[in-house]
Amino acid sequence: MFNPEDCSLKAALNFDKKDELAKFQEKFHFPKTQNAQKPLYFCGHSLGLMPKQTAAAIEEINEAWKTFAVDGHFHSAWPWVSSHESLSASLSRLVVAKESEVVAMNTLTVNLHLLLVSFYKPKKNKFKILIENNTFPSDKYAVDSHARLHGFEPKECVVELKPREGEMIVREEDIFSQIEDLGDSLALVMLGNCNYLSGQKFNMKAITEHAHRFEAMVGFNLAHGAGNIDLKLHEWKVDFATWCTYKYINSGPGGMAGIFIHEKHHLDKSLNRFEGWWGHNKKERFKMAPVFDPIPTAEAWQLYQVLRKKEIISLATWNFYLRQN
Ligand SMILES: *Cc1c(COP(=O)(O)O)cnc(C)c1O
Repeated sequence: MFNPEDCSLKAALNFDKKDELAKFQEKFHFPKTQNAQKPLYFCGHSLGLMPKQTAAAIEEINEAWKTFAVDGHFHSAWPWVSSHESLSASLSRLVVAKESEVVAMNTLTVNLHLLLVSFYKPKKNKFKILIENNTFPSDKYAVDSHARLHGFEPKECVVELKPREGEMIVREEDIFSQIEDLGDSLALVMLGNCNYLSGQKFNMKAITEHAHRFEAMVGFNLAHGAGNIDLKLHEWKVDFATWCTYKYINSGPGGMAGIFIHEKHHLDKSLNRFEGWWGHNKKERFKMAPVFDPIPTAEAWQLYQVLRKKEIISLATWNFYLRQN
């Protein structure tokens, strides 16, 4: 129950005292303020604080580049050729999925597009996309552009959930009835798992089950969920998801994103996919064959060697903290 007294400064300081993770404050740089006091930082949903470990991690990568040049792909302390693989264990813990179902790649909006290529497969009578009201703009632009790509008018294709008059959040029963109303015309449900404006947390398991009854695909944008709330993507049978790491996960500005693709889709040849050499069978990759032979995991969606350096480092730092705990 909401208790207004919990909002007092005194209550906040008390919560802080009891917080098991409070000791982690020490591990981050806080921005400098004019009066030199340590500020209260409430922007973790836009960009997390910089871990103190980051500078040393960057230095380590630079040293390896300097020392090994191209051989750094294979011989540095953290061989770059497989560096995304070293992130899969912590990504899979974060969203509770199998390691084969997650991969670190690109940025969130790029991933949304790549996933829509695979999971939005409209047909003449099954083409509607259900999204939140007040989506983050990028999400709306992405689904609208995919509707157009397939020859549909976004207005007739993209349906927004709406709260009732005078209410801030969408009632759960209204989400279910909206899915039922769309019925067989529904091709895809794509929601955040926390709406970025209202903070509404959606019941992902129930929504997924409900939409699957109508054979719609279900994907989630976890920008405000990954690193923030408990997730069980595999068990809930979510079809796909993607998230950024620079909000609740403290990677750097422009930091690398992650994707989840449920294993039931890994070998499905009927899915469209934009393909590149980094998704090709690893044993044969450097034979440079002309025909794509996909890795039988979410890695088949990966297009390039993960790493712009800055991104590895941010995630490495984060991975390091998770491993410590
Ligand atoms: C932050 C955020 C984005 C931004 O995506 P980028 O590609 O990382 O810029 C998209 N959608 C939601 C819901 C977000 O919160």
